[in-house]
Amino acid sequence: MQVVRAEAMGMCFGVRDALTLAHEIAEPKSTTIHGELVHNATVLADLEERGFAMTGEGSRTALPPTVAVMVTAHGISNRERDRLQGAGKSLIDTTCPLVRRVHDAAQRLEADGYFVVVAGRRGHVEVRGIVEDLAHHVVVESADEVEAWPYGKIGIISQSTAAAADVAAIRTAVIARHPAAQVRFIDTVCRPTKERQAALETLLDRVPAVIVVGGENSNNTRRLVERARARGVLAQHVQGPDDVDIDGLRGIDTVGLTAGTSTPDAVIDAVARLLESI
Ligand code: SF4
Repeated sequence: MQVVRAEAMGMCFGVRDALTLAHEIAEPKSTTIHGELVHNATVLADLEERGFAMTGEGSRTALPPTVAVMVTAHGISNRERDRLQGAGKSLIDTTCPLVRRVHDAAQRLEADGYFVVVAGRRGHVEVRGIVEDLAHHVVVESADEVEAWPYGKIGIISQSTAAAADVAAIRTAVIARHPAAQVRFIDTVCRPTKERQAALETLLDRVPAVIVVGGENSNNTRRLVERARARGVLAQHVQGPDDVDIDGLRGIDTVGLTAGTSTPDAVIDAVARLLESI
């Protein structure tokens, strides 16, 4: 089988930097990673083996057991930062600068009197970090969820890994439902996400099927899969070579390959090797 790789795919600089920092920590056993450092089971298992304690995504309300606490690239709210520091924790902060940009945009809008609409996945760790510091906000996952809110100033931002097309549709719906309101939009989809989405569009012009490699909880990976399916291209979301449904590719001789921003190069290469061997 011929494998066509997307021009931009895989691990972004934000996740790479966070991982590098984790590898530089001399005493992993005295450090807790607060949430999933990356949405990738292999990498998480490796970190656990090195001795890091981990707070699962679902149990971040509990206090980490160690004094040193690593904040992941997804970031946390100021409220959470204060809670941890107030409990005597020392933070190793790997928040991606492009996530920080989303927080800054949200705070700026709120300070300027806007009701903040966050386009993103409800409950996602990054979105939780953004909205925990906001008094008046709503999270919308699609344009269908846009309502007639009773505010004269509405500010729109998005999760850094949202699909640019979804954000544009939400923006259009907000303007349509609030013709008299002052609507301000700040584009906070990060550049690596945009590059991966654009590369996928090009790839989808060339292949009948695409394999998207990424963690189950990875928002940007899911978006890539959804986009491929929306374009009528057969798409498989896999976490590694073992997940590839070979029978599902029967009759196909060219397949596209892309990956989410948490996926290590080694995992992408392993999937590529498997596909080439079919
Ligand atoms: S996906 Fe974007 S915002 Fe998130 S860590 Fe990577 S570069 Fe940063």
